[in-house]
Amino acid sequence: MRIGAGWQHMVCVVCSLFVVLLCAPATLAQTSMGAQARVLVAGTALGAGRDTLSLDIALSQPVPYRLRTFAAPPRLVIDFNTVDWAGVDLGAEAPRSHVRATRQGQLSDGWSRLVLDLGAPFQLASSEQRIDPDSGEAVISLRLKRVALEEFERSAQDERRFVRLSGAAFLHPESAPAPARAPRKPVVMLDPGHGGIDPGAERDGIREADIVLSFARQLREVLLRRGHFDVAMTRDADEFVSLDGRIRAARAAQADLFLSLHADALPEGLATGTVIYLLGDEASDESAAYLAERHDRADMLAGVDLTGNTDEIARVLMSVAWQDTAPRARGLADALVEGLGDAGMRLHRRPIQSGAFTVLRAVDMPSALIELGFMSSPRDLQDLRDPDWTLSMAEALADALELWQERDTAIQELRRR
Ligand SMILES: [Zn+2]
Repeated sequence: MRIGAGWQHMVCVVCSLFVVLLCAPATLAQTSMGAQARVLVAGTALGAGRDTLSLDIALSQPVPYRLRTFAAPPRLVIDFNTVDWAGVDLGAEAPRSHVRATRQGQLSDGWSRLVLDLGAPFQLASSEQRIDPDSGEAVISLRLKRVALEEFERSAQDERRFVRLSGAAFLHPESAPAPARAPRKPVVMLDPGHGGIDPGAERDGIREADIVLSFARQLREVLLRRGHFDVAMTRDADEFVSLDGRIRAARAAQADLFLSLHADALPEGLATGTVIYLLGDEASDESAAYLAERHDRADMLAGVDLTGNTDEIARVLMSVAWQDTAPRARGLADALVEGLGDAGMRLHRRPIQSGAFTVLRAVDMPSALIELGFMSSPRDLQDLRDPDWTLSMAEALADALELWQERDTAIQELRRR
């Protein structure tokens, strides 16, 4: 993609959008609905050559997407996050020798799926998303070429494994749309900070790494006992895990939200009470740039392989994802403060703050860093060492997560309509 002044302009529009998002919570729901891209009829087309097939999908804005092929029978499956297909029908456009049928719809996790039943083994030869620097519109262009069936089968995904993990929505003509599978419980990724060579804060021979690990285990027990969430942990031992490794672990667990747990010491010694940190708006912009420039950015946006895209496209995709995530993370922080307040837990005088924490930089997963208390405060340290206090804290956080989950689901459903 060429970068022109127009493209820069578009990014600025994106940035100012999410600054507005963070400043005006009342408009969050409407604005995040706007993050859904529309498929534009003009510019969307299937094309057939003798041994080739092409598909151009014109969109009102760029979206993350992922491509898969399945054999028996040959199919091309494209998932988008997310598009509205209203008024678009690809069905009649290509000869049946190339495309027998198409179907599309919304998945239960907020992604949208387009399935092409291929008339022959057409393998993906190239894919790219181009962004018009002036309009901000995007075109996803796929090129496929006919190959031997064996070759197609070798490159196709393992469908049984895929269905086991993600369900079978739209994969076959007769397959029912998403609700057919039992709703999966949301997965909370608990991230006890520090560990191994990094002890975190230390006071009176007590290490933050140990305090937050034992608290994370306690919180996991509470959440599992209540049965509303599944729980995974970035570490379950006194071991070092890199910051990016923590995000990768969340991806691997298909986590729905990420909670980093800390109990740091501040040199001033004044901080006391629980604080929830979110990725700041400026930091999110920096993060998008930081992540986009990373070599191994495949894990930074769930399921989206950004390695084949330019830095600029990766950055725009992440900014778009952040528009959806920022209000959800803000809602998470609000629910945490509300849940802790209702349970009578002591909060910092500024209970929600923002910062540029690397561990919060997954722009498409609501993430928060919780300073349970500060080891530099004698009062907090006493609480952190008190099993009754930690149990109350774990129960209060579980209440808060359930509150958030209920609200977030309602907002997501509203969005899908
Ligand atoms: Zn810490």
